[in-house]
Amino acid sequence: MQNLSLQKTAPEKNATIMVNGCKDSRGALSKRKKHKLSLLRNIDTIADILEALYNSPDHGNKSSPMDELIYIHLSKKTNERGYSEAFNRLSSAFPNWERLSDANPETVRNLIGSAGLGNQRTKELLANIKKIRSDLGCLNLDELRCWNSRKIFKFLTSLQGIGPKSAFCIMMYSLNKQVFPVDTHVHTICERMGFIVGGLDHDRAQTILAKMFPKKLRYSLHVNMVAHGRKICRKRGRPLCELCNLSKFCLYFRNAQKARDDTFSMIDVFCGAGGASLGFKDAGFSIKLAVDNSRKATDTYYLNNEELSFDQVITCDIESLDEEFMNERADEEVTLIFGGPPCQGWSIIGKNRKNGTNGINFLKDQKNTLYKEFARQLDIFKPRYFVMENVPALATAHNGKYAGIIRNEFKKHGYESIPIKLNASNYGVSQNRKRIFFIGRRIYPKEKGIVSAVDELNKIVERIREKAKKCDNSFRDVTKGLPRLNAGEGANVLRMHDPEIKDGIKPKLIFNHFTRRHNERDLKIYKLLSEGEDYGHFSIRHKEKELLPYDTKSFKTKFRKINGDSYCHAIISHLSRDANSYVHPDDNRGITVREAARVQSFPDDFIFLPKGFSQFIHLGNAVPPKLAKVIGDSIIETFMESKENEQV
Ligand code: SF4
Repeated sequence: MQNLSLQKTAPEKNATIMVNGCKDSRGALSKRKKHKLSLLRNIDTIADILEALYNSPDHGNKSSPMDELIYIHLSKKTNERGYSEAFNRLSSAFPNWERLSDANPETVRNLIGSAGLGNQRTKELLANIKKIRSDLGCLNLDELRCWNSRKIFKFLTSLQGIGPKSAFCIMMYSLNKQVFPVDTHVHTICERMGFIVGGLDHDRAQTILAKMFPKKLRYSLHVNMVAHGRKICRKRGRPLCELCNLSKFCLYFRNAQKARDDTFSMIDVFCGAGGASLGFKDAGFSIKLAVDNSRKATDTYYLNNEELSFDQVITCDIESLDEEFMNERADEEVTLIFGGPPCQGWSIIGKNRKNGTNGINFLKDQKNTLYKEFARQLDIFKPRYFVMENVPALATAHNGKYAGIIRNEFKKHGYESIPIKLNASNYGVSQNRKRIFFIGRRIYPKEKGIVSAVDELNKIVERIREKAKKCDNSFRDVTKGLPRLNAGEGANVLRMHDPEIKDGIKPKLIFNHFTRRHNERDLKIYKLLSEGEDYGHFSIRHKEKELLPYDTKSFKTKFRKINGDSYCHAIISHLSRDANSYVHPDDNRGITVREAARVQSFPDDFIFLPKGFSQFIHLGNAVPPKLAKVIGDSIIETFMESKENEQV
C-alpha cells in the first residue's frame, strides 16, 4: 500500500528571521521552491493552456477496467504503436477475456510480440488472469467501480507487472477516479517545469506528484501533459521550447535565459504587474530587483520577466524591506529606481479638498507617505535617476503644495526632481490616462564635472515632450483581431485558428479574454447607451425607472459605453468589480482583461494572473508600457549625451 499514503508537500517553515529582504517573510524558501509555489498557485492557468492546446485527447485508453488493465500492462516500456498493435491482436483473438485463461502461452506470446518483452509479459498476463478469476470469480473488473480508491489501488498493485503508475492509469481512465498517473512524459515535464526536483526515480516522482494537483484538474493535466510530451517537451533529444506555450512557467526554460545587458539597470518598487518595467526594458534597462506587497502582482511580474529568478522579485511591504539585505544588493550599480506608490490617498485629495486644505490629517496617513519609503531606497542604492509615478491630483492639489513637500523630501535625500504631467494618449497609447511623473537626478558634488542635475532633468523633459504624438489608434483599432464575445463568454486561455499543432509553428493563444455575465437590466442599459455616452447623459434620454437604478447626479459615470472610434477612458482597477463604465461599443457586454490590456499597450503574450477578474486590479494600476518606454528612452538618450560631455 505504498502509494495512497502519498507525501504532502512539506509545510513552509515559519521563520521569524528576516528572509530574502523581507522582515515578515513566511519562510526561508529557495528560489526553486518559490517558483514551484507560484506554479501551484496558478496551476489552473497552466491546465487551461494545456487544455486549449490539446483538448484532453484520447490516447487509446479503454473504458472497461479489464481492457485497460491489459492495455496498460502491454504499454510498459514500449512505444505506442507496439502496444496498440499488440492489444488489438490480442483482443481480436480473444474477444472474451474468459477464453484467455485457457490460452496457450506460446499463442499469447506471438500475439503480443510487437510490445516486446514477450516471455515476461505473457507470464505476468496469464498469472494476473488467474488471480483475478480466483479473487473475483470472473474476468471482469467492473466490481471495482464500487470499491474505494484505497482498496482498488491495493488490489491492482497486487497484480504482476502493475505498479503505482499503471494502477493509477486504470483507476483514472476506466474507473473515473481523480488520481494522477505519472508516466515518463508527465515526469519529464513536471521536472523541467519545476514541480519536482531533477533526478528522482520514477516511483518517487509518482509518490510526490500523486497529490500535488487539485483533483478536478488531474485528468486534464495528465492527458494533456502526455500529448505535450509527445509533441513538444520530448524526453529524448532537445525539448522544443521555442514552440512551447508553457515556457514562461518553465524553470528549465527560465534558467536557460541569458542575463540582459545591464549597462542601464533598474529597480522597480511597488512594481505591480510590471507595466513600467516592461516599457523601461524595451528602452534598454535590465531589471535588478522588483518589490510589491501583492502576491498576485509578483506572480504576474515574475511570470512575464523570464530572465529573473524568484530572489529578484520580492513580495513584501516596502516598509518591511530589510536595510541590510538591500545594502548587500546595493553593491551592484543601479541606474534608476522606478516606483508608483499606491495612489488611492492622493486620488482622494482631488475629491476631498477640505481635508487636503487644512493639511492636518492627510500626510499623517501612512498610505500617503510611501514616497518616503521610496526615498529610503534612493539612499540605499544611490541611482543616478529615479522616476516616481502618481495621479495628477498630487501635483495640482492646493497649488502644488504636496508636490513641493515631496520634492523637498527628495532634495533631503540628495536628488533634484521635476514633476511632469503626461497623458498616455499623447504617446501612442489608446487611452486618456493622465499621470504625474516625478523624474529625479542625483546631485553630485560640482567638482566631479558631472552635468548638473537641473540641466539634465530639463533635457529629459524636453525629450519626452518632443516624442509626443497623438494616438491615432482607436479602441476598435487596438482590439482588432480578438475573438468577438457575448456576455459570459470567453476564457482565460483561448486557442486561435488551427485545430492541430503544426510542426514548427507555435500555436497562437489568447490569454485573459473572458467577460462577465451581466443581469438583464444592465444588458438593457448597455444596449441603449450610445457610443461615448455615460449614465448622466443617458438619463436625459431615458426616463424609465427600471433603467435608472442609481442616482444620476452622484453616479454620472456608473454606466458608460466606450467610443469605438476614439481612444478609451482610463483603465482602472475598479474593473475587477464591475465593467459598467467600460461597455464594449460593438458587443453587448463589459470589456475583457485582454481588451483592457491592449488599451494599456501590453503585448498579447503578457499573461495576467491569477485566473479571474482580479486580473483587472494590477492591469488598472499599471503604467502603460509604451508610455514608460518613452520616459526610459528619454533618460537613456540624455544619459548618453551627458556622459559624452562629462568625458570632454
Ligand atoms: S519550455 Fe521547454 S522544457 Fe519547458 S515545458 Fe516547454 S518544451 Fe518543456
